[in-house]
Amino acid sequence: MIEEKKINFYCDFHNNSLIKYYCIRTECNQKVRAACAYCIAEEPHKFHEYKKITEFLPSLIDAHNKIYKVIHNCVDNKIV
Ligand SMILES: [Zn+2]
Ligand SMILES: [Zn+2]
Repeated sequence: MIEEKKINFYCDFHNNSLIKYYCIRTECNQKVRAACAYCIAEEPHKFHEYKKITEFLPSLIDAHNKIYKVIHNCVDNKIV
């Protein structure tokens, strides 16, 4: 299981700047959608629409935990 508080990402573009946002622009051509405050203010996600990663992460963790449970159930019931 993943715990939210243990997840800390750092920006590839801006040294050791904490990732706090996530680019949600559909036409964005950046491979890395995770963004720090500088990514949104400057490059590479200047003027792109974004969400706070804290809004995004719970759904990600929730999805992960659901999959985790399904896999576990399968293993327990020897379906896999
Ligand atoms: Zn950045
Ligand atoms: Zn973007």
